[in-house]
Parts: sequence; structure tokens; C-alpha cells
Amino acid sequence: PFLSIVFLSSLTHSSVLCRQSCKLHFEAAPLKIVRASKQYMYDEGGTEFLDCINNVSHVGHCHPYVVSVAQEQMAKLSTSSGFLSDSSSQYAKQLVGTFPESLNICYFVNSGSEANDLALRLAQAHTKQKDLLVVENAYHGNLSNLIDISHSRFKKMPGGKKEHVHVVPWPNTYRGLFREDHANLGEAYALEVKKKIQAVHKEGRQIAGFICEPLMSTAGVITPPQNYLKHVYKLVREAGGVCIADEVQVGLGRVGDYYWSFQSYDVVPDIITCGKPMGNGFPMAAVVTTTEVANSLACFESSFGGNPVSCSVGLAVLDVIQNEKLLSSAKCVGLVLLEGFRNIQPNHPMMGDVRGQGLIIGVELVTDKESRKPASEAAELLTYKAKQLRILVANEGPDKNVIVMTPPLCFNIDNARHVIQVIDKVLAEIERGTCPDQMSAQSDEGITELTIPLDIVSGVESYDDDDDDPHCKRARYEDMD
Ligand code: PMP
Repeated sequence: PFLSIVFLSSLTHSSVLCRQSCKLHFEAAPLKIVRASKQYMYDEGGTEFLDCINNVSHVGHCHPYVVSVAQEQMAKLSTSSGFLSDSSSQYAKQLVGTFPESLNICYFVNSGSEANDLALRLAQAHTKQKDLLVVENAYHGNLSNLIDISHSRFKKMPGGKKEHVHVVPWPNTYRGLFREDHANLGEAYALEVKKKIQAVHKEGRQIAGFICEPLMSTAGVITPPQNYLKHVYKLVREAGGVCIADEVQVGLGRVGDYYWSFQSYDVVPDIITCGKPMGNGFPMAAVVTTTEVANSLACFESSFGGNPVSCSVGLAVLDVIQNEKLLSSAKCVGLVLLEGFRNIQPNHPMMGDVRGQGLIIGVELVTDKESRKPASEAAELLTYKAKQLRILVANEGPDKNVIVMTPPLCFNIDNARHVIQVIDKVLAEIERGTCPDQMSAQSDEGITELTIPLDIVSGVESYDDDDDDPHCKRARYEDMD
């Protein structure tokens, strides 16, 4: 019955089984995508959409090199774990090579959720404690014990917070407890963590660790204030806990400056989880940790984790990242996005904040810049209007008022300019109240081409001057087509 329901739902575009719990992008008018290439997706009618949502197709949809490696390995050997394999040892070596030296042990699993689950087991085995410090509004995966530690999920559920979970404030310097006018933001938010640890001790409990995304994606693209993580990691370790960095969404070069987002904050976690981007759409994930932590775990097994196909795909993705200089490209294109949005921000009474790093960018919409009240409906409307103009963006964060862009890393400067132009136009219409109501935005009627002069976004143009910069001239895979 399950199969037939899923089949039916794919036929009708409406989800019979999932209506209540499984959400689709653009729920009111979901897209049926039939193929994708690079940073573009195509529906049944051949309409092309610029994909700013897909943080899984990391090096570009259906990258020909990754696809050919996967096909070749699938035809040669695809087996469960338990055998020696060149590809798994080579992949483990190369993946671990992207981390600081102390992080030298790698476990392969199949999803970000599995990776976080194993990270919790490692932390709990190492410290012999169960309690965890978690960040308000965070998400760490769909397994029961991860829902238990994901504030964004358990706050909506009947059981609420479990005893062993301790929530520390959302370090959002735009709309959080302490804001940009505070002199020592990192210290102020870290002090809240210290108070929480003291409260845990008062209850006669001890912590196993602290888990957070160094750059918080689903919590609304929150880049924590300077020194926050440094202070928190120190406090957690003094209390006997370990520090877990969830890099499932933001890792593997998305932030542009580094392979891993924690590297921007001058900290070294004890356990790191990675997932989504590793297989460019192939389901695979990993946990990386120290020998000391790994030695605490009595046993670990995964039938599919680290199978030869996953490892070959993982190696191919790492090769593409290097060969196509995708880190420096993400950094450069990310700067274009940040600067472009910041340039148009003064023209938009609802564009409260623009933030991010590399190719994870958030534009926070508010009803007015004074109150900073989340403009959730406007954000939702903007995503539907942008979709009509063939740009796919998401609205995220606890109030769903942050327009989030996490495109494949082959996203280029022209794409960035185009997205800025579309959001500029659509947001101006929403602000003027001339945007058709939500229902008509949700239908695909009246899809039009955008006819905005290219120079509308001042300041962005100057990046053209960088054409000689090898970082901006990303080698693309056009020539492999
Ligand atoms: N951690 C973070 C930060 C995530 O964004 C996600 C997925 N959205 C997960 C964990 C879970 O990963 P998966 O869906 O692959 O299980």
C-alpha cells in the first residue's frame, strides 16, 4: 500500500500519504522536476528554474564526472561493508585530510541524521553522560533521539523537551536576546551557556556535550558573534563535555573560506558530522572524530555506510571541488550576493538584515526595521513570486521570514546578479502592496520573463573588474558536456 500511495501522489502532485507531515517546497503549487543540470532544474514542460535551494547537489546537478564514476563503480562492485576496499581507505584519508590533524578517525554512514545519531553515541560513550546542550531553534535530523535534541521540532510536539536536553539561547544578533549594539556579544551569549551549565549541575546532572551548527542554517542563517564558539567550547570542556559540530548542511566548502564552517571561528570540535553535499545527491554521510573519542565506542556497524559506490562518489566530489576551485568560487560569488543585497537594502523597508558566508545567504524580512517583527507572510509570498520568475528560494528560520539561498557551488556571478534583481523587484512589489495576492502567486499563471535592466543593482557591477582573478574565473564543466 505504501508504494501505491507514493505512486499516486507523484501522479497527482498532491501527497495523499504525506499531506500532514511531509512538506514539499512550494506546498500550494509544488514543482514536478524531471531533470537537472548544474545549477538549473527543469519541469515536465521544459521550464528552467535557477536552483538556489539545493544544498545537496553540491558541485552541480548530475555533474558528469561524478555520474560517470558512480556508474563505473556500480558496474564493478557494490557490496555491503566488512571487506577491505581501496576506495574506502582512500576516501577516508582524503576526507580526514580536510580537517585539523587531531581529527583523524572517520565513520561512514548514509544520512545526516545517522551521522548525528552516531555523534551522540560517541559523546555519551566517551563522557558516560547523557545530557546535551542544544541551541534554540536548531534542527539536527529526523531520528527520534534527534527530534528530542532539535528545539525547532520538539517545541511543537506534545511531549516537549526531554529532561536530558538543555536549551541555550539562539545567538542571533539581529533579533535575539543581545543585539548588535551590545559591546561583547560573543561573551554575553556564552555567559548564558555558562548559566545553563550551572543550572544543570544544580539539578545534580552532568553534560555529555554541546551540539550546534557553527553557522546555523535552518535556524535562519545565523552566523554566531565573534568568540561565541571559542568561549562555549571552553565552558563545555571544563564541564567534562565534548563539542559536536553539525556540518551536515553547511560543510564541505559551502562557506567558501574553508571546507568546514567551524574553521571560521578558530575552534576545533571533538566530533564533526557531515552529510548532504558529500555525495552530490547520492545518500552518504560521515562522522569525523579523534582517536580518543573513537576508542570509547565499543562497536559500530553499517551495511551501506562506506560502500564502494559511496566512497568512489565521495572521492569524485572532492576531486571536482578541487579541480573547479569551488571554494574560492563560493567565496567570490557569495560576496557578490552579500554586497548586492546590502546595496539594495536601504531601498527596502522590509529588508531587515542580510547575512551569511560563501554560498549560504539569508535575507531577513521584517514588517518594519524599527520593530523587527518577522514578515513571515511576505517571505512566503516572495518565494512563490520568485518561483513564477523561475528562481527557487526558500523561507526558513523559526518564523519562516528569512529568505535562504544555498545553491549548488557552481552558482556563478551572473546567477547571483539575476537573483538579486528578481528579489529586488518582487520585494518592491510586496512593499508597495501591488503584488497579486498569495493565491495567484501560488498558481503558475502569468509567468513572465523578467525585464529589468541589468544595471539595476549598483555596486555589483564592480565585480566584473575581477575577471582576471583566478578565484572568480571558476573552471566550469561546460567542456565536459
Ligand atoms: N543536520 C542539519 C543541520 C540538517 O540541515 C539536516 C537536514 N536538513 C540534518 C542534520 C539531517 O540530515 P538528513 O536529512 O540527511 O538525515
